[in-house]
Amino acid sequence: MKKSTFLVIGGAGYIGSHLVKALIAQQQQVVIVDNLSAGSASAVLGGELIVHDFDDRDFLDKLFSETEFDGVFHFASQIVVSESVKDPGKYYRANTAATLTLLEAMRDHKVGPLVFSSTAAVYGEPLHTPINEQHPTNPLNPYGRSKLMVEQMLADFDRAYGQKYIALRYFNAAGADPQARIGENHEPETHLIPLALQAISGKRPPLQLFGRDYDTPDGTCIRDYIHVDDLASAHILAINHLINNGKSGIYNLGSNHGYSVSEVIHTAEKVTGQEVPLTYAPRRQGDPASLVADASLAKKVLGWQPEYTSLDQIIQHAWAWEQTRT
Ligand code: UDP
Repeated sequence: MKKSTFLVIGGAGYIGSHLVKALIAQQQQVVIVDNLSAGSASAVLGGELIVHDFDDRDFLDKLFSETEFDGVFHFASQIVVSESVKDPGKYYRANTAATLTLLEAMRDHKVGPLVFSSTAAVYGEPLHTPINEQHPTNPLNPYGRSKLMVEQMLADFDRAYGQKYIALRYFNAAGADPQARIGENHEPETHLIPLALQAISGKRPPLQLFGRDYDTPDGTCIRDYIHVDDLASAHILAINHLINNGKSGIYNLGSNHGYSVSEVIHTAEKVTGQEVPLTYAPRRQGDPASLVADASLAKKVLGWQPEYTSLDQIIQHAWAWEQTRT
């Protein structure tokens, strides 16, 4: 890739920080804008970090006048599904309206292209599995709707103003930097793998297993876990696709392989050599039984090839990261 300058909004967060790491490994110039409401400055392994809200038109006008960007990645969003149900205004403001501010500023300053973090939550309860991008979208909560609305805005902005974009629908981001420099660090943490590992290390209470009565082989939910470094590599392929005049589009990012919650727990026990302290809880509201990606489009069009395909390895990396924090 030729030397370029990229803007990474939300680059101090879990997935964004892994993209920043990958970009600086390729000697790219990187500017990170993050208000550190969820991210952490120590997760930014290089580039120039500007601590600021991106939802500020004056700030964006100044940024885009001062620096010429070859592409923008937008990771900054609110991600807790249950909170989105209780406080939808926060989600439509932070995820949807704020992104409109960004899109308008990019349009007016002729900045692009854009790679946007979307989610498998746009599909809702799957009608078939694995899920490809043609599957109907019917998000079950404001979080998923706030992301789907952005996808719709992106398509409209492309049609009207020729702004190129790729929306990447992540399945379950997992794992950490193989060198354990950065990893998952949400507060509150709601995700299965860090909660299981932190229950082992005694940092959190026993893991609550949500639901054993799903229509799956062992009764627990099935998800598709994809290594965060593989998500990062897909972003670089996506921006290059657009820079090289490829078409706008939407791509699933997953491993095409589902693991049940029980399988994840067993793998965590195998990797750590310790039992996951566990309690059984009722189903969590809005959890589909099974979400598995058909990610063949990203492989075919973008040339994406995930590197860390075993759940063992994903959990090994997450565990190594977890141990740096105890
Ligand atoms: N899960 C669980 N206990 C937890 C957190 C998650 O049993 O404390 C289950 C959850 O019901 C889902 C799977 O683990 O089936 C993955 O959940 P996570 O929140 O990690 O990701 P999601 O699929 O909701 O994006």
